[in-house]
Amino acid sequence: MTTDTDLTTGLDALLPSLRELYQDLHSHPELSLQETRTAGVVAGMLRAQPGWEVTEGVGGTGVVGVLTNGEGPTVLLRADMDALPVQEATGLPYASVARATDREGNDVPVMHACGHDMHITCLLGVTALLAHHRDGWHGTVVAVFQPAEETAEGARAMLDDGFAERFPKPDVCLGQHVGPFPTGVAVTRPGPLMAASDSYRVRLFGRGGHGSAPESTVDPVVMAAAVVMRLQTVVSREVGASQAAVVTVGSIHAGTKENIIPDEAELKLNIRSVDPVVRERVLAAVRRIVTAEAEASGAPKEPEITSLGSFPLTVNTADATATTVEALRGALGEQAVLTLSQPVNGSEDFGLFGTELGAPSVFWHFGGADPAAFAGTTAESLASRGLPPEIPMNHSPYYAPLQDPTVELGVRALLGAARAWLAPGE
Ligand code: ZN
Ligand code: ZN
Repeated sequence: MTTDTDLTTGLDALLPSLRELYQDLHSHPELSLQETRTAGVVAGMLRAQPGWEVTEGVGGTGVVGVLTNGEGPTVLLRADMDALPVQEATGLPYASVARATDREGNDVPVMHACGHDMHITCLLGVTALLAHHRDGWHGTVVAVFQPAEETAEGARAMLDDGFAERFPKPDVCLGQHVGPFPTGVAVTRPGPLMAASDSYRVRLFGRGGHGSAPESTVDPVVMAAAVVMRLQTVVSREVGASQAAVVTVGSIHAGTKENIIPDEAELKLNIRSVDPVVRERVLAAVRRIVTAEAEASGAPKEPEITSLGSFPLTVNTADATATTVEALRGALGEQAVLTLSQPVNGSEDFGLFGTELGAPSVFWHFGGADPAAFAGTTAESLASRGLPPEIPMNHSPYYAPLQDPTVELGVRALLGAARAWLAPGE
């Protein structure tokens, strides 16, 4: 016999401790793969919730909790834990003043500017409610607290640390990300949801010399300028009008002084795409242009192109998305879940769990912004034309999801989605 135990019973009583946790995490942000304090807090709280088997140090600073509760499907729930080198400017009473040393040895400010503190808080709320209502569901839940999402390293590191052998194989992977939409709204779509992202460092080699005698040099500054301009033709001339891609040169460095022609120039590029075929085409075009422009300049050696990391395309499994959207509507309201008309250009490494573990996966964004700021914006215009420009986005020093009701709604959304996959209780 099944009963419909409401897994959200007790959420109100839990909220004060979740708010406290959120503020604590927010004021103690840590850079990618440095999330030791955060991982400690997560593991401590998870161990205090009855039944969770907790493993620390997975893929560096990752934490995995497993709650086995009888026969039933296995659901993987993922939250990311890292923060960004951003100087917080929100003015919140619990704003971060943290600093850290990055991998290059620079002293940098640190801020939870992407809201990963919200993801941790919501997942720990969900794990608490699942642990307290074990009569209300059956199956296994794998709670994944992942490091280093921002650098596209964390999911890979956890999977490479024997994840598939060490933890139960999921039947579905679910993840959520807070974003600058009105609170209470969730957005997703079946198929491609978020772009693939590929970053490269390009070193262009010339032959330096005196600025007064360019004829005896190969000028890498001119070479770099030609590369940058020609790269602008990749999207405009080689990608179809109905396809999408972005090629950005975000960094360019060469030389020290106006009358010295330097030996080399360095560019850093970021490429976004939402279709694997377009992605290959754009990457090949970038490579071709860089190599050909160096040759056109008479470069003494071929350019060096090194990967700075890449995010996979985030693809939502279609039928699993339908089930999850239904559950999100149940948790947040019929009108609260919007289907995006096209993928967003942000990127995620969440998709690796589903791909590598052979399970369907669904990711969605949920709102953390004050609905008052969206007056006059319809759901349709939000889904098709995006955000009002004055709303701070993730990664902004002003990005500050409303604590309330975002914590509560994030718990409700994730718990509702998880429950749709688990077996009912008895
Ligand atoms: Zn981010
Ligand atoms: Zn993020």
